[in-house]
Amino acid sequence: MTALKNLMISVSGVRGIVGDGLTPDVAVKFAQAYGSTFGPGPVVVGRDSRATGDMVKYAIWSGLISVGCDVIDIGIAPTPTTQIATEKHEHVGGIIITASHNPREWNALKLLSPEGLFLSPDAGAQILRRVQNEEYRFAPWDKMGKIIPSTTAIDDHLQAIYRLPILDLEAIRKRRFKIVADCCNGAGGTILPQLFSHLHCEAIFLHPEPTGFFPRSPEPIPEHLTELSEAVVKHNADLGVAVDPDVDRLALVSEKGLPLGEEYTLAMATAFVLSQTPGDVVTNASTTRALDDIAAANNSRVHRTPVGEIHVAMKAAAIKAVMAGEGNGGVMYPPLHLGRDAMVGIALVLQLLARSQAPVSQVHAGLPQYAMVKDKISLPFGVDAKAIVARLDEQHARDEVDRTDGLKLLHANAWVHVRASNTEPIIRVMAEAPSRSEAQKLVDALKKEVQALTP
Ligand code: MG
Repeated sequence: MTALKNLMISVSGVRGIVGDGLTPDVAVKFAQAYGSTFGPGPVVVGRDSRATGDMVKYAIWSGLISVGCDVIDIGIAPTPTTQIATEKHEHVGGIIITASHNPREWNALKLLSPEGLFLSPDAGAQILRRVQNEEYRFAPWDKMGKIIPSTTAIDDHLQAIYRLPILDLEAIRKRRFKIVADCCNGAGGTILPQLFSHLHCEAIFLHPEPTGFFPRSPEPIPEHLTELSEAVVKHNADLGVAVDPDVDRLALVSEKGLPLGEEYTLAMATAFVLSQTPGDVVTNASTTRALDDIAAANNSRVHRTPVGEIHVAMKAAAIKAVMAGEGNGGVMYPPLHLGRDAMVGIALVLQLLARSQAPVSQVHAGLPQYAMVKDKISLPFGVDAKAIVARLDEQHARDEVDRTDGLKLLHANAWVHVRASNTEPIIRVMAEAPSRSEAQKLVDALKKEVQALTP
């Protein structure tokens, strides 16, 4: 049985620090297992801009062609672009090389289903079993796969957005928005210039070179957006946008230079979508309750799932949701595809601004206002985060709780949520309340409880 050390293996794939957990050997094995399961046939491979991307890419190529899969090489591309390319009926699957918002020494494989969604937990477990048991279907010498370069994926993705009936491109173009965009030297620089140009926006870019040398911490949360905030004010822009390295998360900065908080990306996009097409919304357990208020005002309803894109996507597909996403800036618009997508998020927000004829700060102020505090506790490898959460659950047996994912303690107009991360060795603690100080108090109290249970 193959040993897998220092890796985070989850429903969304396998992550590790390059050279420590994530070696070429690991990438080859997962690619062989993936191709043995879904192949033979063409598999789309895209990557973000990380400096380690080539090492992982060539290992994956080797693994895939050894089991008879052709590689459709789309190069550096956003995660949602690779998802959309994978959906094409002639492709049997897709692999994304990205550690999303993790620090730059990390990298990861995100494995897709033939439909372009992340693998379901069952399919993910099947791949892992193949790796552990070394059950590969190697192709004979004359049936090796080929590498097929493809340069159309980014334009295909953008054209699919432009065709969405909910968008009125002329209305957006008339506003001639001035936008500052922070791409963090990730994959955003490969797609956002075309998007803004097509929408007749004047765009000023910070860090658009896809080098993988992230100039800021790559998670697009307010404390990492100081440079963007200053640039928005300096350039007198209408809006600031920040994306993470694989461009599935989007954060907004107002024309006054204030980060709106990534929860409000989904809130704004949802407010616009529900105003046009009321219906069901799907989001995860720790996303802002502003969504519930917005849905109620539009004769709509919010359904909650565990955290993780695949849970949201599967539920959205099952109930034919009109809108979906995660509060971390992950906008998912089902008529386009069931993946978090910063590009469609930008388009929906610009459409909302074009329609409202008001600055973004005013549109934001018109939404239900809550403050969220997000914190985390790092654990050494080997500590069972889920067991700690289970102990907490026992201690709160008499409180009102929601167990959709981890433990969420419910108060009259606030909540605090504690869960083991799927992607990093940490416990996340989040709270939402009408004011920041109330939310902070809830987080502090719960962190103390977690620390008391941590060996
Ligand atoms: Mg990401």
